[in-house]
Amino acid sequence: MSQLARRIAAVCREMERDDLREIVAERDAGALLDRILAALAPGGDTTTLERDLDDLDAHLVAYGIPGGLVPPRWRAYRPSPVAADGPRPKITVWACPTASCARWLPVAGAVPRCSVRDVPLVEKEISA
Ligand SMILES: [Zn+2]
Repeated sequence: MSQLARRIAAVCREMERDDLREIVAERDAGALLDRILAALAPGGDTTTLERDLDDLDAHLVAYGIPGGLVPPRWRAYRPSPVAADGPRPKITVWACPTASCARWLPVAGAVPRCSVRDVPLVEKEISA
């Protein structure tokens, strides 16, 4: 999985908790977040997406979140099972149906939605 997909998944996860919206408001960077969300919408213009995510990271670090969207510890020790390969058992997870978002959740309870694209997650079989 690409680092970009991982960062988009982090945006998706953080948007669900409302923290990100509050942090960018405090940093006066609401327009930046709006541009990122617009880029992630179907047919959105992604030409400045990576640079905007870099800027968002810088705001998060300045706010006091080490590593920004994807903390270094997560980067180092938690490779996503979606990207895993080899002879491993298959498990079913809920995954974002859009190719750009790498978010996944264990299947339990009600079907969650992607907070970036506002679509329900879909069941997907992955290697554990
Ligand atoms: Zn998503």
